[in-house]
Amino acid sequence: MNKYIFVTGGVCSSLGKGVAAASLGSLLESRGLTIRMIKVDPYINVDAGTMSPYQHGEVYVTDDGAETDLDLGNYARFTRSTLSRANSITTGQIYQEVIRREREGSYLGRTVQVIPHITDRIKQRIRAVGDESGVDVTIVEVGGTVGDIESFPFLEAVRQMVHEAGRRNVLAVHLTLIPGVANGELKTKPTQHSVKELREIGIQPDILLCRAPTPLPDELRRKIALFTNVDHDGVISAYDIQSTLYEIPLMYHKQGLDRICLERLDMEVPQEDLSGWEHVVEVVTGAEKTVRIAVVGKYIELSDSYKSVDEALIHGGVANDVRVELVKIDSEKLDQDQESMRRAFAGIHGILVPGGFGGRGVNGMVAVARFAREEKIPYFGICLGMQVMVIEYARSVLRYEDADSTEFTPDSPHPVVSLLEEQVDVKNYGGTMRLGLSASRLLPGTLVRRIYGTEIIHERHRHRYEVSNAYRQQLNEAGLLTGSVTEDYSLVESLEWKDHPWGLGVQFHPEFISKPVEAHPLFQAFIAAAGTYGEQRAGDADAG
Ligand code: GLN
Repeated sequence: MNKYIFVTGGVCSSLGKGVAAASLGSLLESRGLTIRMIKVDPYINVDAGTMSPYQHGEVYVTDDGAETDLDLGNYARFTRSTLSRANSITTGQIYQEVIRREREGSYLGRTVQVIPHITDRIKQRIRAVGDESGVDVTIVEVGGTVGDIESFPFLEAVRQMVHEAGRRNVLAVHLTLIPGVANGELKTKPTQHSVKELREIGIQPDILLCRAPTPLPDELRRKIALFTNVDHDGVISAYDIQSTLYEIPLMYHKQGLDRICLERLDMEVPQEDLSGWEHVVEVVTGAEKTVRIAVVGKYIELSDSYKSVDEALIHGGVANDVRVELVKIDSEKLDQDQESMRRAFAGIHGILVPGGFGGRGVNGMVAVARFAREEKIPYFGICLGMQVMVIEYARSVLRYEDADSTEFTPDSPHPVVSLLEEQVDVKNYGGTMRLGLSASRLLPGTLVRRIYGTEIIHERHRHRYEVSNAYRQQLNEAGLLTGSVTEDYSLVESLEWKDHPWGLGVQFHPEFISKPVEAHPLFQAFIAAAGTYGEQRAGDADAG
């Protein structure tokens, strides 16, 4: 029988449901079980591709090019679950599919309704991942908060699945909030109400993950158990972690979350191995050396907008046994004269410019790329961060002061980054996005080839514009070298600065596949280079 664990949320959003679900997944994997993770999102958007990073955080991209909610990024960092289009389900998709079938006449003239048609489709989509993959456990995170109008069809589908498959096969985990009031007292009332609401829909939670500022005293856990009809050992204290989110699996494990889930699901409880997570926490909290990386972008105010990049940098630190401190710099607000740049980047050991869309803040990024190149500070450009390297080089070295991407200046006299169809002059081809996994060929003798140690790699893409082939040779000859290309050599995939200790721009997004226990090689190499740069600077300062 296939086993499912549903993770719902109560009281309010942003309590860390995604990380909780992913942590549970990682704990089951640490016991040798296979899992799949699914996110269901109650919004009507078909995918997260068109949602603003300001509102929604980063858009996460899967191998097959689905643009999803950033929680899939958490799943990718915490677990080995394969993730594709099938693992991200939204209300928009469900309605689109049901309406399409209705138009095709598949419902044979019946009235099409939320129950059973929408809920059936939700269950089918969930089972298509869980049942068909044959994994031990499928964990489904239900987005939104219990009580939202939008979440209702999903919760109803959960209720039906518990009813159909039985409580020994389907578990309901509910994440809720126990706020502390002014005198520090912890309050259980919002949790009682949230569980009441869940039970009104027909779902009795098996386990409660209680988010609270501090660990819950035992008598409070007993009180919650009594009021919510959840067993005492199922009331788990999800207290605030000060150090790193990667400690969360360990926090849950100490309270037996993974064991309790397996016991309730009538499964064996194999021995766990958490040494990987313990090592990550050890380095992130205890490493002696710190490497300071500036992340320069335009969505800086929102902490989640470059989530995968931020995390991948930390993973690079783990691989080098150093702590990584992130310094966020808003490229739009940056003063671009040399003096101000020196001040802004004092004490920084490496600079990363991440991806982005639209022209706002791009000139600031260009100035930063120039500064990093001239000052020989390790620089890592991702997607837009690589295109910025091209614009900068064309402006300052090739002396095309009006060089730009046609994304920002459509009629630029020197369109060094442009749409493919502009390059070959085929109009109406449609500026479609290049999305998902594709192969790159790493050229011999390049930095990227040394780092990956292989010729062909596969990385995920999410971009529309390309380095113009018309300028490729000029740029190469002037010292902005092509490091890799598409497999057929037709497009540039990465560039590097000649005569620079570490200046690399990649058109793809390596951050999406980095894990704390397995840092992506580019992030590992970047942090190593930044560490070396930092040591040299310290050495210079001592000598001076
Ligand atoms: N805006 C650029 C493009 O579409 C870069 C995209 C990105 O950084 N993800 O090509």
